[in-house]
Amino acid sequence: MSVLNSIEENLNNVKELINSIENTADRVNNSVSLVAVSKQHSLEAIMKVFNAGHKVFGENRVQEGLRKFTGIKETHTDLELHLIGPLQTNKVRDAVNLFDVIETLDRPKLAKEISREIDRTGKKMGLLIQVNTGEEAQKSGVSPGNFDGFFKYCSEDLNLPVKGLMCIPPVNDEPAKHFALLAEMSRRYKLPYLSMGMSADFETAIRMGATHVRIGTAIFGEREKVD
Ligand SMILES: *Cc1c(COP(=O)(O)O)cnc(C)c1O
Repeated sequence: MSVLNSIEENLNNVKELINSIENTADRVNNSVSLVAVSKQHSLEAIMKVFNAGHKVFGENRVQEGLRKFTGIKETHTDLELHLIGPLQTNKVRDAVNLFDVIETLDRPKLAKEISREIDRTGKKMGLLIQVNTGEEAQKSGVSPGNFDGFFKYCSEDLNLPVKGLMCIPPVNDEPAKHFALLAEMSRRYKLPYLSMGMSADFETAIRMGATHVRIGTAIFGEREKVD
């Protein structure tokens, strides 16, 4: 995964690594879905990954997602796009229209707007609740202590298709304990999808039950430093 490799080589290496971790972790083959995180990368780079046969991508901003993916999605209905960054309520209409999975459901007002938009359009989509496992003030996600009430509000009151959980561990903490907490919550609430693990820690995440790993740098290389 060095800068000397092409994006296609990186993609292959990551896929092979995921397969071998699945094997050693006694996970079913291909049970882990790779979300190629293309934020801050060009359409040209995205097309290299797409043309290599990979169809699942993640973006963290609605406007950037619209700009890069509207065209490709019109002609390729098999492309699956995940929103992995915070969503403002005034962007819900665009987000529901463009994305197939929103991984960052995290507050009642947002849930209500998404529900209204799904009812209005009939859009079929997956929703994951983001959990702020480290209870960091600056990070989005529902805190573990508020999860139960929020989950019931989404799934029972609004009847939203909540399929799983997502987390981003604190940068300076051991990711394993956050993955363990998220995995435990997904078992308790019988939620099949578990989105956890990025370039630096996806091996640990897969061992702990991730069904989706969100990998950017290991495929596309370093991003220009913006956030
Ligand atoms: C950017 C981002 C990723 C990918 O991070 P890498 O370290 O580049 O693999 C994964 N998840 C989220 C939520 C992100 O914002």
